[in-house]
Amino acid sequence: MHYQYAFLPALPLVLLLSACAPSTPAATATPEPTATGKPSVTLTYGDNAQVELVTPAGRHIYIDVWNVSLLTKEPSADDVLLTTHMHPDHYFKDFVESFPGRKITMAAGEIDLPDIKVTAIVSAHLPNDPLDDPAKATNFLFLIETGDLRIVHFGDCGQLSFTAGEMAILGKVDLAITQFSNSFSMMDAANRTGFQQMDQVKPRLIIPTHYDKATLEIAVGLWPGFYANTRTVTLSPASIPEKTSLLLMGAEYTVGPYASLYKLAEWK
Ligand SMILES: [Zn+2]
Repeated sequence: MHYQYAFLPALPLVLLLSACAPSTPAATATPEPTATGKPSVTLTYGDNAQVELVTPAGRHIYIDVWNVSLLTKEPSADDVLLTTHMHPDHYFKDFVESFPGRKITMAAGEIDLPDIKVTAIVSAHLPNDPLDDPAKATNFLFLIETGDLRIVHFGDCGQLSFTAGEMAILGKVDLAITQFSNSFSMMDAANRTGFQQMDQVKPRLIIPTHYDKATLEIAVGLWPGFYANTRTVTLSPASIPEKTSLLLMGAEYTVGPYASLYKLAEWK
């Protein structure tokens, strides 16, 4: 990685140390053929809402990158970068500005390529933030269609509910990458905003980003829970449960204790 870590002094010490350690990229995410012979999508989870997808054609889609040490490779001109909002745990200015491929940075819009379609729509970080003006929007939702999957990254969405217009665009969602606990979105276990959102969207699988013990406890009470013992998983329409399920991903020191506590099944 050749990025300048100008923002790192503001990061927690543990992340600073990991980012400054000799580069040890996560396992390379290469699309793997499914049982049907059709290539699937791989997903590598970083920290917070940082996610890296690899389409069946091998294109990397980077979302809310803030910790470049967790990327599987350096981006190329074929790749795509999506940024939901400007909070520093979702946005790394130097990375965004030097990104060599296509990008949507805190804006509505579309990217349409042979192996992927991205639709970015206005959302709200706080319940009462404006939804009628993209220039004033505080969060954006990304619908990513690739490998016969509809994946939605919700960033830090704090809306109490989704509008009819948003729901029409989101449609049937296979995978939701979303938050359940975030004081900056007025979202917690008491008001259950994140759960009301997912009750409306009804995705087949949820990967939680910001959460705490109280919201995770609600989640595993509502949905079958899985954990990944690796940062990269392979996804296809056949591999995702029909009934809404939860997939916990991330650092072993975070996921491991919760997997034990809630007896989560390992994601295969
Ligand atoms: Zn935020």
